[in-house]
Amino acid sequence: MLEIKTNLVNISFRIEKACKAAGRDLASVRLLAVSKTFPAQAVVQAHAAGQVDFGENYIQEGVEKIQALAHLPLVWHCIGPIQSNKTRLVAEHFDWVHSVDRPKIAQRLSEQRPAGHPPLQVCIQVNVDGGPTKAGVPPQQAAELASLIASLPGLRLRGIMSIPEPAPDFASALAVHQRSQALYKSLKAQGFDLDTLSLGMSADLEAAIHAGSTLVRVGAAIFGARS
Ligand SMILES: *Cc1c(COP(=O)(O)O)cnc(C)c1O
Repeated sequence: MLEIKTNLVNISFRIEKACKAAGRDLASVRLLAVSKTFPAQAVVQAHAAGQVDFGENYIQEGVEKIQALAHLPLVWHCIGPIQSNKTRLVAEHFDWVHSVDRPKIAQRLSEQRPAGHPPLQVCIQVNVDGGPTKAGVPPQQAAELASLIASLPGLRLRGIMSIPEPAPDFASALAVHQRSQALYKSLKAQGFDLDTLSLGMSADLEAAIHAGSTLVRVGAAIFGARS
């Protein structure tokens, strides 16, 4: 478990180095620790080392950790696929959701967000490289979904997220992340008030930061390999 603290320090160095190389301010990149498949105790360890934002893919598993750790001031992000029968759990327990990719899910999340909670912070998941099996709206449909989300009272639109296919090298990772960056800029130019470009994981966070990522989602490099 000491390892988690060391890993977080190493990730901070990687982020810092990537920011320097890209000429960016370190404060412009937020680290999301992806704790999926790891026990609540691993989250406690990461939090003790200063980590605040945690990401979960599997909604039921995430809710169990959120409830077990309700005494800690953590920020929880849902980053996994959302079936309509799971929207209520997301709306009631999470602070952020990065994986909204269709109108029905957005509408249900807004309706089911409990009164008295701040709006759910939302990123639209975009299928930027056209991967056939992957979730995410095609880039051409992102603006329409953004308009809907911006109009829903229970939601606050923050940006976009994408999970491209693993790239063999920095240059190809950068090229695909730059497509997300271009879409993000285009949505901002269309008047959407966005501040979050959720790009990059353990293997490609440098390329993502180079392409303007404001939030990297890192699992294995913090918590270890998943079985
Ligand atoms: C698992 C996951 C991550 C973290 O991936 P690592 O390779 O473990 O860093 C990031 N984003 C999403 C959406 C994931 O499902």
